[in-house]
Amino acid sequence: MFTDIAKIRIKAGNGGNGAVSFRREKYVAAGGPDGGDGGRGGNIVFKVDTNLATLSDFRYKRKYTAPNGQDGSGGRKNGKSGEDLIIYVPKGTIIRECESGAVMADMSDDKPFIAAKGGKGGWGNPHFATPTRQVPRFAKDGTPGEEWEVSLELKLLADVGLLGFPNVGKSTLISVVSEAKPIIANYHFTTVTPVLGVVSMGEGNSFVMADIPGLIEGAGDGVGLGHEFLRHVERCRLLLHIIDASGSEGRDPKEDFEIINRELEKFDPELAKRPQIIAANKTDLTDEETVEELRAYFEGRGYEFYTMCAPIAEGTQTIVNALWNKLQTLPPIKRYEAESIPVEIFEKTADKGFTITVRDNVYFVEAPWLLRILQRSDLDDYESLQYFQRVLVSSGIIDALHERGICEGDTVSIYDLEFDFVD
Ligand code: GDP
Ligand code: MG
Repeated sequence: MFTDIAKIRIKAGNGGNGAVSFRREKYVAAGGPDGGDGGRGGNIVFKVDTNLATLSDFRYKRKYTAPNGQDGSGGRKNGKSGEDLIIYVPKGTIIRECESGAVMADMSDDKPFIAAKGGKGGWGNPHFATPTRQVPRFAKDGTPGEEWEVSLELKLLADVGLLGFPNVGKSTLISVVSEAKPIIANYHFTTVTPVLGVVSMGEGNSFVMADIPGLIEGAGDGVGLGHEFLRHVERCRLLLHIIDASGSEGRDPKEDFEIINRELEKFDPELAKRPQIIAANKTDLTDEETVEELRAYFEGRGYEFYTMCAPIAEGTQTIVNALWNKLQTLPPIKRYEAESIPVEIFEKTADKGFTITVRDNVYFVEAPWLLRILQRSDLDDYESLQYFQRVLVSSGIIDALHERGICEGDTVSIYDLEFDFVD
């Protein structure tokens, strides 16, 4: 089966803990604080690999974890950062956060995308030394790395997508005009994974042609085409609709053409409007008269119409040139904009436990669910800040701080957020 949807769990590395340590020198009772900082946790980063055309790698491996940062140690030795974990996906993969369905990224260009940020390393105890606190016996723990359940959906990106019933010669064409080597066989459903071929136009110019896996069984009976297949045509700028001019296998090329277009229309009217060029294949198996009749039919409907005998590359260069010329006039491929993940989902699903530890009038609050909200909130933004404050109240954290005896002006430390308590 061709896999074009997958769900995986990604977890960035935790930050290493800061160290509590004091310099030891001979004859010196207690030296100054010298605990090192923890290292940053590794990020989870998505990158495009243009050689990939399916998400099948994700069928068996579902969990991806980046390494943690190392803890700091004495002598101001900072912990090593965790290395980023790179996950390669095919070009055109849409990454969504599962819970909300928000688009995190459209992997349509070569830019890497950090999907889960590694936790920050905690500070070692020297950071907490002040004139009144010369022997800081505490350091900070690293923050946990972000964790997400994400769905990957492949919506292939290609300039030209091939349309046509099984056996009309799609694989043959792409093998003749590009370096792609698909399986060509005289039986249906041979194409089980998409094949992308780069068609070179010389002088460094090229375009990408996609032979997309096919038509579901029964398509010929008008049952319909697989929508999986249509999802990929969705992001082609131009469609080359191949018909079998000879009508071999007892098919009627005009009817085939109309069936496919009806399916496109049903799936997405926008898609049905995508420009199409017609290529009538297997001219060696038919006569001039039939071909001319087809030409009249399609040109009469306003389509550019070409003929070819794909296996011997007859007529194929003319078609390639026509595709190239048409592409110059077409807009770029559709991109999906990243959406913000509503932070409310963390509040909704979370087990809202927290712990408060007090040291030297610093109130350390720990709550993994709250961290997720923090990581996703821009606290410089007034509304985000308001939301965050509401959460502190509704979760009982503010009440608990009061119970622990917090006073105006004491420091509240929530992961890497630190602020003075104001009642
Ligand atoms: P696809 O299913 O559309 O990808 O079709 P293929 O490219 O796999 O071709 C199906 C069969 O038709 C293969 O046996 C090809 O060799 C044959 N074929 C393709 N083009 C032509 C052609 O122009 N003339 C003839 N006689 N056979 C062809
Ligand atoms: Mg094929």
